[in-house]
Amino acid sequence: MAHTKLYIPGPVEVNERTWKAFTSPMIGHRSEDFRKLYAEIQPMLRQVLNTGRPVFISTSSAWGVMEGAVRNLTARKVLNCMAGAFSDKWLDVSKRCGREAEALQVEWGSPILPDMIDGKLATGEFDALTLVHNETSTGTLMPLEEIAELKKKYPDVMFIVDTVSSLSAMNIDFDALGLDLLLAGCQKAFALPPGITFFATSQQAQDKAATINDRGYYFDICEFEKNAEKDMTPSTPSISHVYALRSKLQEFMEEGLENRYARHLRLAEKTRDWAAGHGFTLFPEAGYESVTLTCINNGQKEGGRVIDVPKLQGLMKERGFAIDGGYGKIKGKTFRISNMGDETDESMQKVYDALDESMALL
Ligand SMILES: *Cc1c(COP(=O)(O)O)cnc(C)c1O
Repeated sequence: MAHTKLYIPGPVEVNERTWKAFTSPMIGHRSEDFRKLYAEIQPMLRQVLNTGRPVFISTSSAWGVMEGAVRNLTARKVLNCMAGAFSDKWLDVSKRCGREAEALQVEWGSPILPDMIDGKLATGEFDALTLVHNETSTGTLMPLEEIAELKKKYPDVMFIVDTVSSLSAMNIDFDALGLDLLLAGCQKAFALPPGITFFATSQQAQDKAATINDRGYYFDICEFEKNAEKDMTPSTPSISHVYALRSKLQEFMEEGLENRYARHLRLAEKTRDWAAGHGFTLFPEAGYESVTLTCINNGQKEGGRVIDVPKLQGLMKERGFAIDGGYGKIKGKTFRISNMGDETDESMQKVYDALDESMALL
């Protein structure tokens, strides 16, 4: 069967070089070879996160570490900043972990602003907060730098940030932001096959976790820290992913991180231009658009054009491309086109051409 190229916001296309690395011969996870592989990856991963701290590798999807973060770092009550499907779900996940949790909800497509968080933290009830940097369901980017400033005002609150669909597509400086836990999945902007998640923690986060009894085992950040000192993971990792990660990070270094960031922004702007050219408006509030995907209104806002989204998806699939038909409660009212990972001006142009052809047939 012919492969349909993925322009959904994760998982995204995986290139040949990554697949080749992924199928490297197996090694033992306690062997010298593995420790060398792990150690080789660390400086590159730290460069991507702009950190001097270790970057841990969890064999799980992002939700594993998202759940683990709440279990490790919340003793009293967590504030879940909610602006879309992923950030909304974190409230439910926090409660299922047995934690006191409260929503700070804004309308989907709107940003979470520092003042809103300040107002909640001022109550003194919270010792942790969760934030999704790039809300993939709505294509909305939260003002992370401004929000992270609040850490200075509330030094005892754990700042837990999901950069699942933004890390490596834009500059995120873990140390300068002063965050306590930052995580990213591998199947979004990293363009790896799904299956591992990277995360970094502050020393303060490690110290706090050590005082929390019910942090479990698989996502215990104290276990991660102890093993990382020996260039290992707590349990058997997906070693294939670790090989693929090394190859991917080498690609990042060859391209240059600044070039990688500029490429993502440029391609997102091209997709926004394509949408505007066909009379569409964007779902996120102006000024808060994601650089890794574009969430387009299907006639929701005034003057917006209304189309048959499933039909557009079908026409695109016939042309070899998968695009997304909207997530959760905005399914059909929006559609999303991803430009994250290895996409180029040339590869995106093929998508715009196929979209033009498909639009003409609607
Ligand atoms: C995809 C995504 C997740 C969930 O990732 P899984 O790998 O499915 O666990 C969480 N947050 C954001 C912002 C995402 O885009």
